[in-house]
Amino acid sequence: MLTKHPSISGSPGATVAIIGAGAAGLIAARTLHGAGLSVTLIDKSRGLGGRLATRRVETLAFDHGCPSVAVSDPADLDLMAELAAAGSTSVQPDGVYLGCPGMSSLLKPLAEGLELLRGVRIAQVRRKHEVWYLRSDESDAPELGPFDWLLVAAPAPQAADLLADYTEVSAQIAQARMAPRWTLMVVPDGDLEQASDRIWFEDEVLDFAVRNDIKPGRSGPESWVVHARQDWSTANLEIGPDTARDRLLAGFRAYVPQGHPRYVAAHRWRFAEVVSPLGVDCVPDPDLRLAAGGDWCLGPHVTDALASGRAMAAQVLAFYEPALG
Ligand SMILES: Cc1cc2nc3c(=O)[nH]c(=O)nc-3n(C[C@H](O)[C@H](O)[C@H](O)COP(=O)(O)OP(=O)(O)OC[C@H]3O[C@@H](n4cnc5c(N)ncnc54)[C@H](O)[C@@H]3O)c2cc1C
Repeated sequence: MLTKHPSISGSPGATVAIIGAGAAGLIAARTLHGAGLSVTLIDKSRGLGGRLATRRVETLAFDHGCPSVAVSDPADLDLMAELAAAGSTSVQPDGVYLGCPGMSSLLKPLAEGLELLRGVRIAQVRRKHEVWYLRSDESDAPELGPFDWLLVAAPAPQAADLLADYTEVSAQIAQARMAPRWTLMVVPDGDLEQASDRIWFEDEVLDFAVRNDIKPGRSGPESWVVHARQDWSTANLEIGPDTARDRLLAGFRAYVPQGHPRYVAAHRWRFAEVVSPLGVDCVPDPDLRLAAGGDWCLGPHVTDALASGRAMAAQVLAFYEPALG
């Protein structure tokens, strides 16, 4: 347990609101909860994991966001070992980690014991009398709070918007650059007879495709997630899911001949991957008891999000000291 740092007035138990239950928010929440703070983790989505996502359609499951995680940092290796013991990941022969049964499951054990608010989109944050209050986009919902600390673990443009009133922090966040990506989920009509579970394209539209039905714990018909190129996705951000689906499917069928698919849908990740990170592990403002972070601080990978989440938690813990005995 922790005691309150002498410089903080008020009640001895610190409360923390974390907006965003992706890798950064989850590891921050787990770290702070483990240290004895009272954490409320809020996400606009009903699921956990953010871009570690799995779309389920009846018996089908598509990892339509991040397809796998590569890990080398000792802290991340320890985390993966813990998650493997909990049954939410398995390491593959090529050394990458997959979520079991889907990528959205990978980090789920981190949420155990946390107060979770899912399906709640925070539209406004405000600091009043030295504490934070949060308002969702549902006009009749009560304000959330008060919280001693606020951590914002949303993609950079969304974090900058939420914190627009805190101009120094939001201006710094807004310097990070993120790119979109369209992805296509396909169940072909019959097996494609591809030797590999990953296809790389030399193409203006398509980047790569990952086979999904042969991931651990999966079954059912052959299924693929096809990733469009970032530059094409940027240029075609607003074409709509039906047009994107048709364009990506036409490209995929040109490379991998097939009949009409049994299932096909496109998903747009507006903020898929970091193209220009800030180069700092998080954006803190200790005077405001505020920190923002996510992959966009350090780089384009899940491990960057985890490092940033740990850094945000460290900002909070710096205000507290371990109780003796
Ligand atoms: C298609 C694709 C392929 C990828 N490939 C790889 C790869 O091969 N390897 C790799 O390491 N990484 C890959 N990534 C990137 C990886 O997924 C991210 O780096 C990582 O998941 C980011 O975690 P995060 O916690 O920073 O953000 P996120 O996962 O985006 O989490 C942010 C959360 O904040 C929530 N949120 C935002 N605004 C609000 C609000 N106002 N109120 C409430 N909640 C809110 C969102 O719903 C979301 O759950 C890929 C990503 C995509 C999309």
